[in-house]
Amino acid sequence: MSVKAVIVGAGMGGMSAAIALEQLGIEVAVYEQVTENKPVGAAISVWSNGVKCLNHLGLQKETAELGGIVDSMSYVDGFTGDTMCRFSMQPLIDEVGQRPYPIARAELQLMLMNAYGYDAINFGKKMVAVHDGDDRATVEFADGTTDSADIVIGADGAKSLTREYVLGGPVARRYAGYVNFNGLVEVDEKIGPATEWTTYVGDSRRVSVMPVAGNRFYFFFDVPMPEGVPFERGTAREVLAAEFGDWAPGVQTLIEKLDPATTNRVEILDLDPFDTWVKGRVAVLGDAAHNTTPDIGQGGCSAMEDAVALQFAFRDHPDDPLAALAAYQAARTERAGDLVLRARKRCDVTHGKDPEKTAAWYEELRGEDGTNIIRGIVGNIVGGPLTS
Ligand SMILES: Cc1cc2nc3c(=O)[nH]c(=O)nc-3n(C[C@H](O)[C@H](O)[C@H](O)COP(=O)(O)OP(=O)(O)OC[C@H]3O[C@@H](n4cnc5c(N)ncnc54)[C@H](O)[C@@H]3O)c2cc1C
Repeated sequence: MSVKAVIVGAGMGGMSAAIALEQLGIEVAVYEQVTENKPVGAAISVWSNGVKCLNHLGLQKETAELGGIVDSMSYVDGFTGDTMCRFSMQPLIDEVGQRPYPIARAELQLMLMNAYGYDAINFGKKMVAVHDGDDRATVEFADGTTDSADIVIGADGAKSLTREYVLGGPVARRYAGYVNFNGLVEVDEKIGPATEWTTYVGDSRRVSVMPVAGNRFYFFFDVPMPEGVPFERGTAREVLAAEFGDWAPGVQTLIEKLDPATTNRVEILDLDPFDTWVKGRVAVLGDAAHNTTPDIGQGGCSAMEDAVALQFAFRDHPDDPLAALAAYQAARTERAGDLVLRARKRCDVTHGKDPEKTAAWYEELRGEDGTNIIRGIVGNIVGGPLTS
């Protein structure tokens, strides 16, 4: 039997799924509402579980070329600039068998799009409705056109319309209590060593840099604040200078060096995990299925895991799309939900939900030799389709 899949959303989840299904010989049509590759956000850390998925999709060489080399990690007192701890990443790499790679988001996205075939993506197609049928599921687009297939995969992101269809109604996301400013900046060792993931912490805030390819740092600032504070794009330097004026010299250098025009500001939200990912021939994947805070850097990795799990489900049920989607759901809900809750827990400690716990964490960091932090990161990495 030949199977056709419609994928809605050409983000990292949708594109990974498109490549994964095509590897099995499934016919795939990808629809994306925007008109070109323009992802929101500067970069992501692709942890070893995500890298293994990209390798599995045939992108080992390309991923390594785009990835920054992180040989060590450090935590720094945000106010004094004193190193609280510094340790090698090698034990982590040895334990899980794969180096993680921070990658500029636009480059990661383009790599995936090119692997599938950039010109084959149907850009400028906004889905406005999806519904299941006896033999086919159908999507309707804003331009009045439709497409039908054996399955529809809604990889339509955190505000997913497909999720609404699968769950029978909209669900409210939860504001996590902080705003993330992020961008790319040329490496400057006054901020942190070129091959280190450096994180300044203090006052329930976090400022971090990690290398991506091309002698650049991916940087971000986490600032707890109420939801809905107005912000004018282009004013990040003034805002951050006011928020971090009394922080260490490395943070001041970063604020001077960043480009306010390209610095993004994102309010961080997540969604309680849910177990229904499939309705008949329609399924959700990626942020549509598990919208998480970025506090353990696993949202995109989890989307890549979904794609590989979906491939394995169709490999095991090649002639039965309904059975394949059921197997996909069974393989993924617990694992993805666990990552969402782990991220939420880290988010609360990092951002001062209980200030005593945050102060205790700072104390722990001063005595840390890397063992506990690496154990935590390995705990996130293990449990996916290629890291069981
Ligand atoms: C600040 C921040 C930092 C992060 N850092 C990391 C990190 O370090 N590591 C990590 O693994 N993850 C990280 N993440 C999470 C990661 O960005 C997401 O998990 C990932 O982008 C999800 O991919 P996706 O394809 O599911 O969704 P998206 O990337 O959101 O893609 C969804 C696509 O669907 C399209 N779409 C939506 N609706 C429709 C429609 N109706 N019709 C047609 N197309 C539609 C959108 O235009 C979009 O292109 C971070 C997130 C944030 C906010």
